Amino acid sequence: MKINTGEISALIKQQIKDYKHKFDSNDVGTVVSVGDGIAIVYGLDQAMLGELLLFPNDIYGLVMNLERENVGAVLLGDANLIKEGDVVKRSKTVMRVPTGEAMLGRVVNALGQPIDGLGEIETKSSRPIDVIAPGVMERKSVNTPLETGTTMIDAITPIGRGQRELIIGDRQTGKTAIAVDAIINQKGKNVLCIYVAIGQKNSTVAQIVAKLKEHDAMEYSIVVAATASEPAPMLYVAPYAACAMAEEFMHQGKDVLIVYDDLSKHAVAYRALSLLLKRSPGREAYPGDVFYLHSRLLERACKLSDENGGGSITALPIVETQAGDISAYIPTNVISITDGQIFLTTDLFNAGFRPAIDSGLSVSRVGGNAQTKAMKQVAKSLKIELANFQEMKSFSQFGSDLDKATLQVLKHGEVLMRVLTQRQYEPKSMEHEVFDLFAAHHGYFDNVEYNKVRSLMDQAYVDIKGRAPEIFKQIEEEKVISDANEKKLKELLEDFMKGQAN
Ligand code: ATP
Ligand code: MG
Repeated sequence: MKINTGEISALIKQQIKDYKHKFDSNDVGTVVSVGDGIAIVYGLDQAMLGELLLFPNDIYGLVMNLERENVGAVLLGDANLIKEGDVVKRSKTVMRVPTGEAMLGRVVNALGQPIDGLGEIETKSSRPIDVIAPGVMERKSVNTPLETGTTMIDAITPIGRGQRELIIGDRQTGKTAIAVDAIINQKGKNVLCIYVAIGQKNSTVAQIVAKLKEHDAMEYSIVVAATASEPAPMLYVAPYAACAMAEEFMHQGKDVLIVYDDLSKHAVAYRALSLLLKRSPGREAYPGDVFYLHSRLLERACKLSDENGGGSITALPIVETQAGDISAYIPTNVISITDGQIFLTTDLFNAGFRPAIDSGLSVSRVGGNAQTKAMKQVAKSLKIELANFQEMKSFSQFGSDLDKATLQVLKHGEVLMRVLTQRQYEPKSMEHEVFDLFAAHHGYFDNVEYNKVRSLMDQAYVDIKGRAPEIFKQIEEEKVISDANEKKLKELLEDFMKGQAN
């Protein structure tokens, strides 16, 4: 038989043409190299930034780098299961996480998968993890307080729903403690909470979950954990995934509190990824876009306008400093993105002043609008009084003879400092805080021995609340101390102090 070469080549050409129709080579690639949680994939020339890739063994990857020949992807799973030559498929979607009511009470990983051993999470809704924050017109200014239950914060750096307030300080200064107390205090206040653990020990996260359960706070909370033992990509994704879960609630018109604990470890994880992806290092070896990393996350916390349902996300990011250096790269970045910061110091912590909040360096730029009138009545001069006290205190160390007025300021300041200390896991109601500050501000405890101030104050609260519950009810409901009640409170306090003197 004579072979017609022309016919054969036409046939082959036809077959290749048909083959192309059946198989879009743009959607499948092969792993060129893999290591340290990063895979370089050849052949995905249509892949998009942030697209989810499907690797063998049900491992997902996230496209982070688009290069001329390859794409660089981070692996969200065990990178040891991936090898050179593996086939990679495009998903043509960005990464999404499950969301909704069913997530409440659960502990999940950065992909939204349960890790608490309580079975599958039955939810139909999901949201993309990385979205553009609501624009200016979709928002409204902060107008409702988010009560943290920590007197010092509610008085000096009040937080409003939809605000971003940074908690910053050295290691072991009680940063996590005030955030967890704020979550515990949301019980019965219609605020859903999300706690995101980034790069922490498993044992620490387990402890926090146990404490939340103990205070019935898990019912309205989700814990998203990307612990130190997990690969860097999981740490990188965790806050975005958690924010998507919060957004689902916000768009339903609900209020959400989200705690990112902490963003320094998040930045470190991102730095590791960036360096492995061979992006050029900048200041402190962080990549140039580390500011954008946090700003695009924190911008998503906001208060929506009434037309958009009026929901809100309040963000409490946490940043760890080294030796109190708030001018380092990541601290300055996050300070400039947030609406204020709560600064905790080791000195105050070791001196027994806990929560160890530095009243001079802590600010809240928008929360004042949301502060209740009652709180404003008792807290308006607090910051100045504390500043006066600190100044006098450092000054008085030089001289021995102090005049009576100075002694009075010192004593009053000490009482104020004492009143502002608070035990962990004991957030206070707004009326309780107002009462404490009212009594301290008017100097009722100025002549009490320092060590007895706290216990006497607690006693006064119980005693006076028992005698005149209507005053506290009125403060709780109307959020203001009326003239009549102010007079009554003063009388009751005088009575109480007289009783102590006898
Ligand atoms: P890390 O840097 O390790 O994350 P942190 O700054 O988050 O630490 P915490 O873990 O909250 O600090 O607190 C450190 C220790 O101080 C804990 O043992 C905690 O129980 C204790 N602590 C925190 N706040 C108070 C408080 N108000 N009163 C008494 N002890 C407290
Ligand atoms: Mg902590």
